[in-house]
Amino acid sequence: MCVFCKIVKGELPAKVVYEDDRVMAFHDINPQAPVHVLVIPKEHIPTVNDLKEEHAELIGHIFLVIKKIAKELGIAESGYRVLVNCNSDGGQEIYHLHFHLLGGKPLGPMVCR
Ligand code: AMP
Ligand code: ZN
Repeated sequence: MCVFCKIVKGELPAKVVYEDDRVMAFHDINPQAPVHVLVIPKEHIPTVNDLKEEHAELIGHIFLVIKKIAKELGIAESGYRVLVNCNSDGGQEIYHLHFHLLGGKPLGPMVCR
């Protein structure tokens, strides 16, 4: 089972900031900004490449959850970045779809290093 599925099942600890029947959000273990939250579907979807038409509503829901968390964590007005990595060139390390929510400081231009 993947790391994020273990978090969903409560088998690994996480600092959870949001949870409903389809989605979970928790603080990244190695934050790259003052606010760095990962928002994941509970369903194990490995990458963006694995999304199907049936996931369209779920992905829309995830963005509404991101909006809600950004407001609750106080970064909605100052601004934030939402990022998804896919496969090796995208720098994906965990193969369970996740949306990085980053903010709390000026993040500068889009990073490509
Ligand atoms: P990615 O490179 O897009 O696959 O990002 C994976 C992210 O998951 C990285 O930012 C890691 O710091 C984070 N991460 C890995 N393991 C955990 C964990 N157990 N709890 C929270 N975040 C984690
Ligand atoms: Zn998983």
